[in-house]
Amino acid sequence: MNPVNNKRIAIVGGGPGGLTLARLLLPGGAAVKVYERDVSRSVRVQGATLDLHDESGLAALRKAGLMAAFEQHYRPGADHMRVVDKHGVIRFDEMAGPTEGVYFRPEIDRGPLRNLLLDSLQEDTVVWNSHFQDMQAEGKGWRLHFKNGTSAYADIVIGADGANSRLRPYLTDIVAFYSGYTAIEGAVYDSAKNVPVLHTLLHGGKIFALGDDKTLVLSSKGDGSLVFYTGFKAPENWVKENGLDLNDKAQMKAWFQEAFAGWDALWLPLFEQSAGSFIARPLYCMPLDQHWQSQPNLTLLGDAAHLMPPYAGEGVNMAMLDALELSACLLDPAFHTAHEAIAAYERQMLTRASATAQMTLEQTDALHREGNLQYMLDMFDPEKQ
Ligand SMILES: Cc1cc2nc3c(=O)[nH]c(=O)nc-3n(C[C@H](O)[C@H](O)[C@H](O)COP(=O)(O)OP(=O)(O)OC[C@H]3O[C@@H](n4cnc5c(N)ncnc54)[C@H](O)[C@@H]3O)c2cc1C
Repeated sequence: MNPVNNKRIAIVGGGPGGLTLARLLLPGGAAVKVYERDVSRSVRVQGATLDLHDESGLAALRKAGLMAAFEQHYRPGADHMRVVDKHGVIRFDEMAGPTEGVYFRPEIDRGPLRNLLLDSLQEDTVVWNSHFQDMQAEGKGWRLHFKNGTSAYADIVIGADGANSRLRPYLTDIVAFYSGYTAIEGAVYDSAKNVPVLHTLLHGGKIFALGDDKTLVLSSKGDGSLVFYTGFKAPENWVKENGLDLNDKAQMKAWFQEAFAGWDALWLPLFEQSAGSFIARPLYCMPLDQHWQSQPNLTLLGDAAHLMPPYAGEGVNMAMLDALELSACLLDPAFHTAHEAIAAYERQMLTRASATAQMTLEQTDALHREGNLQYMLDMFDPEKQ
């Protein structure tokens, strides 16, 4: 019998990591609940499209029996990527990649990914409007308290609550360090109508614009919108101290013109036509040598465990691979206790995440220093590999 059979498991956070884990634990005989702060599944999920990798995100979906659902919802051709200079001149045009095999890196929007995972769960697995506040030990498990005044008992708690995890401090006091880079994120609805020139350049895929020591990444989405984020070097408190009003398009456009001086006016419609508020994201990373004493009834996955900057496109893939590895350990009858299973998972997760974070930091630095365009072009040049 596996070590979680008949146990109550609380997963806090219904992002890609938490929902994948809930799905993978289904056959294990545990009573699994996902406590999610969003009030319902119809809350609009923000963010760029995600490319899933064969050995991680796709491996988790395969194990979960969800490849057929995935194939209905991923966006063929959205992995088409253009690398352009700061004037918008195309320097590398990557056609959409293969449709199977280890180099198949299909793109799916965050909303459809969340929906397909939700559809694979039982109706009452996710408890919406459950914003985790705190918890205390109760018997051999935990009593969790939520902002809406409710509480719940669980034998085992999994913190899948993302970058600013409230669960993490119950396991470790190690905090993330600032990477040195900040991103400003925005979105444009109906990009064909609102930013037609950029829409054409985007060609239903992704653009990496590189120049000076800065980046501008654009992704098309299946609903006809696009999202973009500028990346640049900045002091950690830049967002708080610069006095920029992220709701004020004119101010944000003026900021871009100054900060990205010398970049073509081609990019300005992004700021003129953006929908809603911009999001400022100082980018953090967990220390590469982090480790903690495993606990018998608590662990972390995804960004809560190993937040890293987004420039290697690994975050969601790591979160889903965590779910795959953690479920494999928790459902393995070779482990006599959940504690043994959690310890085994954490050993492999921390080692893997450290190597991935190191690669990500190196890539983030290279993309934000002089020569970044050539660096990225070299990545695609077989003679430079
Ligand atoms: C600008 C940007 C671009 C990115 N691009 C990519 C990319 O191209 N490819 C890629 O792989 N990764 C990318 N990432 C990273 C990726 O988004 C994350 O690594 C991934 O979403 C982590 O998944 P997760 O399930 O651990 O956490 P999350 O996706 O953050 O999900 C956490 C969930 O927990 C919920 N939650 C939070 N706090 C509480 C609480 N107190 N109580 C209850 N619920 C709570 C949240 O509502 C959310 O549903 C990007 C990140 C950023 C910021």
